[in-house]
Amino acid sequence: MNRREFMTSLAAGAAVPVLAAGGTCAADSGRKDIRPTRFKPIEIPGLAPRPDFWKVRPQEIMELCEGARKCSRKEVIAHTPLGYPVYALFYGDFNDAPPQTNWSAGSSSTTWKNYMGNPPPAKQTFLFVAGIHGAEPECVAGAMNLVKMLETGTDFRGRSYPELLDLISKYRFIVVPCANMDGRAISPDHLHGLGWQEFRAASQGTWKDGSLIGWRGSKSWFPLPLDKVSYPGGYPNADGFNIMHDAAPGHIRTAEGRALLQLAERWRVDAILNGHSYEYAPTILTPGAIDVPEKVARANAISDRVNAAIYREGLNPNKPKENRTPRGTINLNTVLALASGAIALTLECSVSFDRPIKPPRVKPTRTYTFDELMEPVFVALREYLADGLERPFVVRGDDKVFPD
Ligand SMILES: [Zn+2]
Repeated sequence: MNRREFMTSLAAGAAVPVLAAGGTCAADSGRKDIRPTRFKPIEIPGLAPRPDFWKVRPQEIMELCEGARKCSRKEVIAHTPLGYPVYALFYGDFNDAPPQTNWSAGSSSTTWKNYMGNPPPAKQTFLFVAGIHGAEPECVAGAMNLVKMLETGTDFRGRSYPELLDLISKYRFIVVPCANMDGRAISPDHLHGLGWQEFRAASQGTWKDGSLIGWRGSKSWFPLPLDKVSYPGGYPNADGFNIMHDAAPGHIRTAEGRALLQLAERWRVDAILNGHSYEYAPTILTPGAIDVPEKVARANAISDRVNAAIYREGLNPNKPKENRTPRGTINLNTVLALASGAIALTLECSVSFDRPIKPPRVKPTRTYTFDELMEPVFVALREYLADGLERPFVVRGDDKVFPD
């Protein structure tokens, strides 16, 4: 088998592309049988109606992805336990053959190009993934508006971000609008205006006795024991797995997590924005410490840049700390970074307030409109992408070829 045949055989085993001849996205149905949810979607009395541009329901996500035409490639990268398709939309040139080696081997081989390709992709590759926690809709709303903008020039509000679109055009850009469709299917459209108790119940769920499972409590199990809960929250998928922590090498449990890892590896992803939300003002979390030191420092510098911009634009009332000490947390970002050598950062949008209403002590110091809830997505992408044009995200190697 020569190299070309080898590459062809690899391509035959690649993820399921939904692609028309000529390189444009096709109409498709990535849907197979979608099963009803085991748990009823949580009902929150008095929840404010969402604005029209807040498209975060599974049906809406599938329709937008199915209808996308401007992307150069489209894949259903996984089906969730309930049978929902997880879409990845690709913008830019994605005609490169699969890597002949993985990043682990390739980065130690005779040349880094064994992984990156020879020639390597002409542009850096960026992955934006939203909705890994289905209860957190802000980045899904941002991703949906971004896709609408990439497809039509304007988002669901009729607004455009020309600077961001220009930056995206300088990359190979992949967007996964919602990785955890199961969690989304049982979650409300938003958590705007809710108190701490309701926020936690909707996010991490409740045990059968009605008590909160809690954020840390939810991590005591993998998967969450669904026979013990009255509501699992929109955090995990329908099997109870928190995809963000599906990060034990050799024992990846979810189709969603595995697909994201394979997506990063296959397309030689250089940088990742992982979109979440929490109960505080928006911020990029302090990056993880588990990576090569240069990448940890670089990730930290990018997070500082994004946080400064979020503050400058009035979306976070608290002056951000700079050069924070990277954390020992292990999560999907850790293994994504290993899969392709990428920088991986988590954006936390706010679900409603700077701080949640937790009587009698805590009163919110800042409230957000729906526009402001998803605005950090656009700010973070703009700053992150701009940084990568000033200096490549990852120094893959030099042109030296090692003899043995
Ligand atoms: Zn989250």
